[in-house]
Amino acid sequence: MSEELNPFKISQAQLDAAAEIMDLDKDAHAMLREPMRSLTVNIPAKMRDGSTKLFTGFRVQYNDARGPCKGGIRYHPEESIDTVKALAAWMTWKTSLAGIPYGGAKGGIICDPKSMNEAEIESVSRGYIRSIGRYLGPDRDIPAPDVYTTPQIMAWMMDEYSKMVGHNEFGLITGKPLEVGGSEGRGDATAKGGTFILREAARAMKMDIKQMKIAIQGFGNAGMFALQLSQELGAKVVAVSDSKGGVYSESGLDAVGLSDAKIKTGSVQGYSQGGAEQITNEKLLELNVDVLIPAALENQITHANADSIKAKLVLELANGPVTPEADAILFEKGVVDLPDFLVNSGGVIVSYFEWVQNIGGYYWDRDDVYAKLDRIMTRSFKSVADTQAEYAAKGKKISPRMAAYIVAVSRVAAAMKVRGWY
Ligand code: NAD
Repeated sequence: MSEELNPFKISQAQLDAAAEIMDLDKDAHAMLREPMRSLTVNIPAKMRDGSTKLFTGFRVQYNDARGPCKGGIRYHPEESIDTVKALAAWMTWKTSLAGIPYGGAKGGIICDPKSMNEAEIESVSRGYIRSIGRYLGPDRDIPAPDVYTTPQIMAWMMDEYSKMVGHNEFGLITGKPLEVGGSEGRGDATAKGGTFILREAARAMKMDIKQMKIAIQGFGNAGMFALQLSQELGAKVVAVSDSKGGVYSESGLDAVGLSDAKIKTGSVQGYSQGGAEQITNEKLLELNVDVLIPAALENQITHANADSIKAKLVLELANGPVTPEADAILFEKGVVDLPDFLVNSGGVIVSYFEWVQNIGGYYWDRDDVYAKLDRIMTRSFKSVADTQAEYAAKGKKISPRMAAYIVAVSRVAAAMKVRGWY
């Protein structure tokens, strides 16, 4: 049988595995296997040639037992309802594990923003909000940027919603520009949060960050900041890649030089400063490094390559980069694979800070944001490590992903129980 790559089926399989270990109530389990609400809309948008084109968009509100739904919006030509459902489920676990008062959601529009001009993107973005606006709001569902959506798009969406309700509603959406209620520290929050987890994992595994060699797959928002921040901690990033290919340097790559090359040529491929060699994406994943940071797309480590992974620690900065079969292989090999909804939760945590600042009308500085982010990330790491230790004491060895699921799912189930949903 071929490996399951449907992200929603994968998210359900992960939940099923956790439900069995934690002996989850069967009615709660059934509720948590499906989204609470799933919307599909068709949005007419004006194109530059004068025509009107129809775009399909989705918004999935997975569960709101712990608070309003929260999750980003992606623009992608291959967006699908099943990807959005899986990401909405993972958002539910992510906000719960972080202990922030939200449920989970995700949105997406099937479109190719690279082939659209600014006016066309604005037209689709405003149309999407007109289509789903009645289901959104600071106390209902709060979107944010994700793959190929930007702070500018968030500003248009906030503006369109404010027009619909007749007053400014900055708390509708997060990841906005600073001029309209954005938060300091939001831009690099995901990678910053990931480096707090790297620090905690290194401490727990007794690894010296200054001696570490790191490989990063993906050089977009998450990967680029991960490179800078890992180097700030003293680690050596020896390889990075993007969709076109990768580069490797035994002595470490230069963050500034690589970022400049990416801006100039659109890729890290071809970068050769300091004797950097060209490598493929496949090779990058299998390098002899201490830490591997997948920061690109889902399903990158599968049953086909999991056995060739040599890193001791995998930090999932991307969403869903490791399939369940690969997860089992890594666990068996003793590779510590820290799950996406722990490692990349920095983005949603600073989004939460942005919403709190919008509602309170009182704005914090960057140091304040980072200090609060550090406290939450460290607390989340500890709750996962403690749960693993608790099960180990009962004679059951569980992976960090299962421990994170158990923490997150038990909190959502407890909220549903106390509300009388089951
Ligand atoms: P992005 O679009 O800015 O960057 C993606 C990068 O991956 C690009 O450099 C692209 O060239 C590269 N890429 C694509 N296919 C690849 C392949 N096959 N091999 C290697 N590289 C490839 O996206 P992003 O915002 O950096 O997000 C990356 C991942 O992190 C996604 O899974 C996203 O869901 C997750 N994430 C991002 C944030 C955030 O705040 N940006 C938050 C949480 C999770």
